[in-house]
Amino acid sequence: MSIRGSCLCGSFVFEVDRVVGPFEICHCNRCRKKSGAAGLPMVGVMARDYRVLSGLDTVVTYEAPVLKMPPPYHSYFCKRCGSPLPPPNPGKWFEIPAGLFDDDPGIRPDKHIFIELVPDWDVVNDDLPRFNLRDLVRSRRGEELPEEHELVTHHGTRIKV
Ligand SMILES: [Zn+2]
Ligand SMILES: [Zn+2]
Repeated sequence: MSIRGSCLCGSFVFEVDRVVGPFEICHCNRCRKKSGAAGLPMVGVMARDYRVLSGLDTVVTYEAPVLKMPPPYHSYFCKRCGSPLPPPNPGKWFEIPAGLFDDDPGIRPDKHIFIELVPDWDVVNDDLPRFNLRDLVRSRRGEELPEEHELVTHHGTRIKV
């Protein structure tokens, strides 16, 4: 049975056969701005398992300036209601904002990411693993960041990680 999702106004409707994960809650300041929330939960999906049922023409793409290296950060949203949306031309694997799902995607959040960017007012108090950029690069690419690595945030602030 497929798993459906949609935006706030219902223009954009999609379905997936399955989700593969990960299911990460991103606290980076760009995802916070895109969602207006403390963190943006995103579910990993394979493009072959995904179909847009309606509303592809309502997707607007905003490309944020590159902070450090490409690819640029993209925000996709419904031009009618502003809900964050999946990319209009997804790669082999991509992420869907979890709040769009109308049905249970069947998996649960597995970690918080960009934990070093959690603002002071946010309280992360569950038992999920908390990954900073260094942990993320290690788990995704199997690489170690150099000792003195700098993370450039949205407003150009540099944070040592
Ligand atoms: Zn909408
Ligand atoms: Zn993010």
